Amino acid sequence: MKLQDSQNILPIEENEETQSVKIFKDLKDELPTGITEGEHLVKNFSLNEWNFGVEKRISKARQDCKTQGQYVSQVIKNCVKSIGKVEDFASLEEKEQNFTLAKLQVGDVFHIYCWVRVDAIDEKVEFNAQCPSCNNADDYIGNLFEMEVRTKQKPSDQNGEYKLIKPVKAKEGEIDTFYFHSPMWTFVENLSQKELLDPALYKEKIFQQTIHGTNLRPEGYFLTPDVADQFNKRDTDGLLDAIEQNIGGPLLQAKVDCKQCRYRFNMPFEWRYDNFFSSFSK
Ligand SMILES: [Zn+2]
Repeated sequence: MKLQDSQNILPIEENEETQSVKIFKDLKDELPTGITEGEHLVKNFSLNEWNFGVEKRISKARQDCKTQGQYVSQVIKNCVKSIGKVEDFASLEEKEQNFTLAKLQVGDVFHIYCWVRVDAIDEKVEFNAQCPSCNNADDYIGNLFEMEVRTKQKPSDQNGEYKLIKPVKAKEGEIDTFYFHSPMWTFVENLSQKELLDPALYKEKIFQQTIHGTNLRPEGYFLTPDVADQFNKRDTDGLLDAIEQNIGGPLLQAKVDCKQCRYRFNMPFEWRYDNFFSSFSK
């Protein structure tokens, strides 16, 4: 899942499909990753009906949102009935709701958010896209039901590692491998508009939030700028790619066949703005 380049058109990666990829429509009320409970992942959730009261509450709460992530959180808080073992999520105090949200993975929150959208409106999303092959710009309709979703089967599936092409120096010695885990929802919730739009700031933030170990210190490691600044370009991109490939959840993109030249490309869904729910105002 790529969160940042929703303005860019992405090429279709050939080896993207793995055994853990499912189709959004088939998962329904099952979280792609789930909440870790010992050796298991608890994956169930349910939604309340979206009505005008909900719409008014979200609209009011939205005014206090400082980040796009906080807006997504407000949608979840107002629309979710239960998550995992928290059966009374809807009736909890906001502080307790935040406590539950903090235990969710980024991809799980987007999975619920997309289901709220489907439940409230429908699965179709209109967008305009420019073909990377012939440059023809046209209107298209994407289908959220057809999104690919990466799923995890056990808690350890949330972990990954990246071997550096060019090792870096740290006080404790030479680092050649980083261990990371999937980002938690609070990562996106706290991501400022500036960090969301600036590629370098975004990378530094996601590296710091997900890397927890190295070959020298497998646990309890925090990446510092003096180490991160030594990454060469290929390692910076390779590490980001490894972390993003490891995020469970919907890929938030539609496959588009250019109306003019038939070239096939991926177009990211624009989750950041109100137009994800805009059919309401039509
Ligand atoms: Zn084209």
